[in-house]
Amino acid sequence: MATLKPSPHPETVSAAAARPTREQAEEAVRTLIRWAGDDPQREGLRDTPRRVAKAYEEFFAGYQVDAEDILRRTFSETNGYDEMVVLRDIRFESHCEHHIAPIIGKAHIAYMPDKRVIGISKLARLVEVFSKRLQIQEKMTAQIANAIHDVLQPKGVAVVVEGAHQCMTTRGIHKPGVTMVTSTMLGIFRDNSATRREFLAMIGDPASRQLPNV
Ligand SMILES: [Zn+2]
Repeated sequence: MATLKPSPHPETVSAAAARPTREQAEEAVRTLIRWAGDDPQREGLRDTPRRVAKAYEEFFAGYQVDAEDILRRTFSETNGYDEMVVLRDIRFESHCEHHIAPIIGKAHIAYMPDKRVIGISKLARLVEVFSKRLQIQEKMTAQIANAIHDVLQPKGVAVVVEGAHQCMTTRGIHKPGVTMVTSTMLGIFRDNSATRREFLAMIGDPASRQLPNV
């Protein structure tokens, strides 16, 4: 085990400072219900603002966590292990920052350790922390890769994310069954095509994979 000095997450700190009260959040939900054309005082909707605020606490729990801190506190030395570590099919639920509509999909992560390794549950936790924020998929993919790169300092990191965006399936252009695939390749995964191919073969061809129906 090793410990590095944690640095505060600037995004989280400024968001926390400006955070409205729970009552203000619930009032905003009542405003949106009226905007949609309904009466927030009718019986079926009376508890909705409270429920929505509670759901938001869950949907956006990632703002309360410094993602890199999860890795900093728990990595260990490799003891000579230098083969590729792959964790695939990590399901995530996120929300697009343009429509606050769900993005549901899977992430696949690989890294080539140098001196440090991390438990696979921490990689899954890392995906969770970044997904429980308002996101665009490209940014989330890069954030996961960069966090691993910065803290574990491996020889390389590869992250592939497949996501179905409900802002595309339930509104706008209404295109169900479309999934978006994004990837970030760093270090040896970018420089060495054989390593990259090995990783992509291990996770299968993302274009032909079945996503959950969302
Ligand atoms: Zn969207």
